[in-house]
Amino acid sequence: MGKRDYYEVLGISRNATKEEIKKAYRKMAMKYHPDRNPGDKEAEEKFKEAAEAYEVLSDDQKRARYDKFGHSGLGNGAQGFTDVNDIFSHFSDIFGGAFGGSSIFDDFFGTGSGRRTSSRRAYRGEPGSDLKITIKLTLEEIATGTTKKVKIKKYNKCPTCNGTGAKSSSAFRTCSVCNGSGEVRQVSRSIFGQFVNITTCSNCGGTGRVISEPCPACSGEGRIYGESTIKVSIPAGVSDGSYMTLRGQGNAGKNGGENGDIIVVFKELPHEYFVRDGDNVIYDLFISFPEAVLGTEVEVPTLTGRAKLKIEPGIQAGKFLKMRDKGIQHLNSYGSGDQLVRVNIYVPKKITSEEREALNRLQNMPNIKAPE
Ligand SMILES: [Zn+2]
Ligand SMILES: [Zn+2]
Repeated sequence: MGKRDYYEVLGISRNATKEEIKKAYRKMAMKYHPDRNPGDKEAEEKFKEAAEAYEVLSDDQKRARYDKFGHSGLGNGAQGFTDVNDIFSHFSDIFGGAFGGSSIFDDFFGTGSGRRTSSRRAYRGEPGSDLKITIKLTLEEIATGTTKKVKIKKYNKCPTCNGTGAKSSSAFRTCSVCNGSGEVRQVSRSIFGQFVNITTCSNCGGTGRVISEPCPACSGEGRIYGESTIKVSIPAGVSDGSYMTLRGQGNAGKNGGENGDIIVVFKELPHEYFVRDGDNVIYDLFISFPEAVLGTEVEVPTLTGRAKLKIEPGIQAGKFLKMRDKGIQHLNSYGSGDQLVRVNIYVPKKITSEEREALNRLQNMPNIKAPE
């Protein structure tokens, strides 16, 4: 099978700029990368083809020769890649250079088998674990949001050695496993054939050096276990069992490794007066039969203190009165729920003979009788 035109491979015109070539290649490489197309032979071929086209067109001299003489003008210089590492070296070049960092490069290779360890990246030690805490909240706290200070026991970065675990900045020696390179090479088979896999040295964690004299405060771990106070800002409207994550506030990692997170789980405490219904709160109000008939003004508790509520004459038992915006603030939008007051008629169980007499008189009157 004859080779395809390199410009055609990258889908660009013959007078494309260097930037355009780079961009086109990046797009193709992302699309056809073997990690994204496992087992797809066609994608693999396209991936290699694009890399080859880029190798030639990104080089001024090779490009000029190719423009003049076509594929035959390149001699043995570009007969396709035999080692996948050659392709990857372009990636660090193109992705690192184009984005001023290695984030895309990392994203790209983060899940794949073709991961290379960039020597530019600073080594981070073993990461710290996450912690879970439960915070109990009253409805009042949930209604408006609150800030809580919580004491917890966790690992914190050792202040004496600043997390390195070494007694001083010179208390290190070269790692004997990787001879200071921080990398260990392993040869394995891959879809491209023999594949040199470079992994981080586990003895030194990729730093290329090991501690010769440990920090006396933390015994070389770079972290110390102790009590800490953390501040948690809780938004209004959270519900029972929901949680939030405090990034990087969990256990400190070993030897400067990344911190874990704290997972805060919310527990809603039962309330003396209210039952929660979404962002509304329900309150059961009891009034006397004469009050229900004649109307009255009562004082009811709310989440923000007591408030007056007018009861119209002739109110029926079971009716809900709405106290607008007296509920819980919405978590993800503006405004608040309401307080819903359910009207109940209080029926006494003990009465005096005088009260009995009055009720006897009352129940025979025409408007008091329940309709049949
Ligand atoms: Zn220390
Ligand atoms: Zn090592």
